[in-house]
Amino acid sequence: MTRKQHDSQHVIGQSTSATRRRFLASSVQAALAAPMTLGVASEAARASARPIAGVRFELPRLRVPASFIIDDSTCLVNMGHYCMPQFAAAWPKRSIYNKPWKTWPREIPDSFVRTFGEWCADHGVKGKYSIVPYPACVGWLDRLLPGWSRRELLESLKLVRERMVPDWDIHPEMITHTRVIELKTGRPLEEIHAGTMENSYPQEHKSVDELAAYLAYALRILKNCDLPCEGITTPGGFGNRVKKELSQAVGEAVRDVYGSELPHYFKYVAGPKESTVPRIENFGSGGDVSRTTVNVWAGTGDWFGGWDGDREPEPDRYCNREATAGRMVELIEKREPAVMLCHWPGLYSHGTLKGFRAFQQVIRSLEGRFADDLLWMKVSEIGRYYAARSLTEMVLEDRSVRLDAPFGTPNCTLTIETASPEAPVVRHGDQKTPLRKVNRKIDLAEGTYLVGEGQCTVCFELRKGTTTVSL
Ligand SMILES: [Zn+2]
Repeated sequence: MTRKQHDSQHVIGQSTSATRRRFLASSVQAALAAPMTLGVASEAARASARPIAGVRFELPRLRVPASFIIDDSTCLVNMGHYCMPQFAAAWPKRSIYNKPWKTWPREIPDSFVRTFGEWCADHGVKGKYSIVPYPACVGWLDRLLPGWSRRELLESLKLVRERMVPDWDIHPEMITHTRVIELKTGRPLEEIHAGTMENSYPQEHKSVDELAAYLAYALRILKNCDLPCEGITTPGGFGNRVKKELSQAVGEAVRDVYGSELPHYFKYVAGPKESTVPRIENFGSGGDVSRTTVNVWAGTGDWFGGWDGDREPEPDRYCNREATAGRMVELIEKREPAVMLCHWPGLYSHGTLKGFRAFQQVIRSLEGRFADDLLWMKVSEIGRYYAARSLTEMVLEDRSVRLDAPFGTPNCTLTIETASPEAPVVRHGDQKTPLRKVNRKIDLAEGTYLVGEGQCTVCFELRKGTTTVSL
């Protein structure tokens, strides 16, 4: 379960606490949610939780959430070309870094960003797109990018804002994705070894504040570039030795720099037997959710072109042409978030676009069988949905359900057992929203309801605070 060839092993985060177990145990729907964590704590939570009789917090619009995580993207700089010699210097014994990087293009052009972005928009594909802020120490995206004109840099950022931002979370993938930067001077640390590379940093304990300062430094550059951001991606094995601190640092840094309500991060890839359901981390005591951070997971390896763009794509490992096999099919059939992973240089494939064509094939195959059963979402949207699903307290009253939600979410979908549903009405504060009836599952969308045998499924925007759904 390595995330990429140049990663060290990603080990599962164990981020549970007694507080969290108690909270889960009292949460009326915890047993209905897919398991949130691995290990003993979640077993305890599942065993002791009482589902609320008659109400089920479903998947959004009864569909499986899907997302596409793209690592190692940035503006113009081909990270495959520029990272390779720096990795080779830090890990001289690893032959995988002995590749002809000088023959590879130094740029991944904006024309490719446009082609990719438009194709994904046409097919509804959404996800996460990294913007490394000081990519491989080539230049600062909020200042200058040596090798490209100022105009090219500004246009590239504008393209990301206009074409990618609407459907993609933007994450810094730390500061450089290569050398560790000394925050006081902005210079790479002098020595060159695994301990001074972001991929394997830090080698010793770091406090939450120290890590948060590093993350905030990366986030501020993206903020200077006028890019929105609610989360971060760790480059390779960044933070492997300080997983708990890292999770807290993400919450601190993202809230500090961007003021986001619900920060998230991407670090882990689920193995075949692990869940891709986001882990909801950092509860305070007494139900305090002000530090909550969502740990979103990917469910596949990179089987397009690899992090350096040098691999032969294997699209069938995601989904074969008939959509009967492949990891994405497995996840969809398990009804767990189907989150694909790849690296940007691997879609560009040194300009041959082999990886991109393999990706198009996978999406078309998925559309062939699952078009009405998938809901493409940004990773932040998946995180938010599961945070709401895990943390909302529900009480079934006479012909109504009361929800107390610390976080709202679009497309909140509940199935309520009832013999004779009247037209459901959602009440939040002074606002009353009657729902409209639909007759087919594929038409279920926000603002509608569907009647089934002895039950009624409602879909509405869940707002933070108290909401009542009356039937
Ligand atoms: Zn990366």
